[in-house]
Amino acid sequence: MKCIYCANDTKVIDKRDAENIIRRRRECLSCSKRFTTYEKAHVTLTVVKKNNEQEKFDRQKLITGLQKACEKRPIPEEVIESIADEIEIELMSIGEEVTSKKIGDIVMQKLEKLDKIAYVRFASVYKNFDSISQFEKTVKTLKSN
Ligand SMILES: [Zn+2]
Repeated sequence: MKCIYCANDTKVIDKRDAENIIRRRRECLSCSKRFTTYEKAHVTLTVVKKNNEQEKFDRQKLITGLQKACEKRPIPEEVIESIADEIEIELMSIGEEVTSKKIGDIVMQKLEKLDKIAYVRFASVYKNFDSISQFEKTVKTLKSN
């Protein structure tokens, strides 16, 4: 596979097999940039939103959401990338259609394990806490864990 940035040759630096998908982390031999490729039959992941509208799954959107939640937390970019990979693989194993709610739930699960602050931040946006008390309740639940 050629580099997506400069079209030179790449090498595989990490390979992971999941159920129906092979994920390869690649590094360019020329510019040293890294990217990930996935091998799966017909991957067209469609997201069904709350209002039943459909859109193509957008990995960048997922990463932006994770980055926002993890802002100023001691979480390296590499970790965010690998969480995005895990989420993507999990979604692909569900099928070709996933609900935005399902994506949110999986993101919450991952963040809860990773960083409590990032988790609360994401939850506050995602769950649309409609009152302060609901927010405080969630924070309390976290503290007692
Ligand atoms: Zn390159």
